Amino acid sequence: MESFMGIFMLVGLILIIFLYNVYKCYTEEEWICLNCGFRGNRKKITKGSSLIELILWICLIVPGLIYSIWRITTKFFACPKCNTPNMIPIDSPKGKELLQKYGIKE
Ligand SMILES: [Zn+2]
Repeated sequence: MESFMGIFMLVGLILIIFLYNVYKCYTEEEWICLNCGFRGNRKKITKGSSLIELILWICLIVPGLIYSIWRITTKFFACPKCNTPNMIPIDSPKGKELLQKYGIKE
C-alpha cells in the first residue's frame, strides 16, 4: 500500500510542475530572441508525443510516469520565428541591449 501512496505523491508533484509551467507561460509575455531579434511571447516545445504518453499510461503506470517525467524535464521555450531556445526577458540588461541593437522601441 505504501508504494501506491508514493506513486500518488509523484503524480501530484508532476501535476504541480505542469500547472506551474502553464502559469509561467502565460504571465511572462515580453521576450526577445538572441538569435533573430524577434520580440514577443515564447513558444513552448515538448519532446515526444502525447499519444505515446497516453498509451504508456493505459498499459502500465510506471513507464507512463517515466515518460511523463522525461517530457516535463526536457520541455523548453523557443523563439516562434527561428525555433532556437535563446529567448531572454526584455527587461533584463541584455534584453535592453538587444532592443537597441535591433532598433526596437520599448
Ligand atoms: Zn528567433
